[in-house]
Amino acid sequence: MVMVGVLGLQGAVREHVRSIEASGAKAIIVKKVEQLDEIDGLILPGGESTTMRRLIDQYGFLEPLRQFGQTGKPIFGTCAGLILLAKEISNQTTTHLGLMDMTVTRNAFGRQKDSFEAALSIEGVADDYNAVFIRAPYIERVGEDVHILATYDDAIVAAEEGPFLCTAFHPELTEDHRLAKYFVEKVKESKKSLAR
Ligand code: GLN
Repeated sequence: MVMVGVLGLQGAVREHVRSIEASGAKAIIVKKVEQLDEIDGLILPGGESTTMRRLIDQYGFLEPLRQFGQTGKPIFGTCAGLILLAKEISNQTTTHLGLMDMTVTRNAFGRQKDSFEAALSIEGVADDYNAVFIRAPYIERVGEDVHILATYDDAIVAAEEGPFLCTAFHPELTEDHRLAKYFVEKVKESKKSLAR
């Protein structure tokens, strides 16, 4: 069975653990850098990207997380996690892991739409997916190797680039575990190919 870690510095951590466990994989909460050696894939949860970054620096996670991504092990970033993965953030100068070739905008849906739910079609996952957005970012530009999986109101809200997957919404907050299953399958495939 594959082992998926959920970065446990801040944010919606336990909900991801539950969702991974419901998808046929083992899950652990990652609070120490050494735990990255025990896992086959990693989830960067939603929360607050600036707070998460402060804790990433405080616990020495920045380079180890970049290296984890560079080995080809899958990473799934949700909401703030998507912001952590991006190479560019349009409304601020600092970036974080810079693993996905995309430009994101934080808090992109505006005040009236602070939190909302929307029915999405997500390529390869579901065509009737109820997505929960909370002060969500969106992706405004993707590089040529980034594959768009879902849009909402012309904004890109889910994408994939090699081992990296991201959503602007929170897939762990509902009982619909199809995205977690999609990620677990990706982790299984990568474990097989990295073992070759
Ligand atoms: N607005 C948050 C940020 O900029 C993300 C919100 C979320 O993860 N639900 O980091």
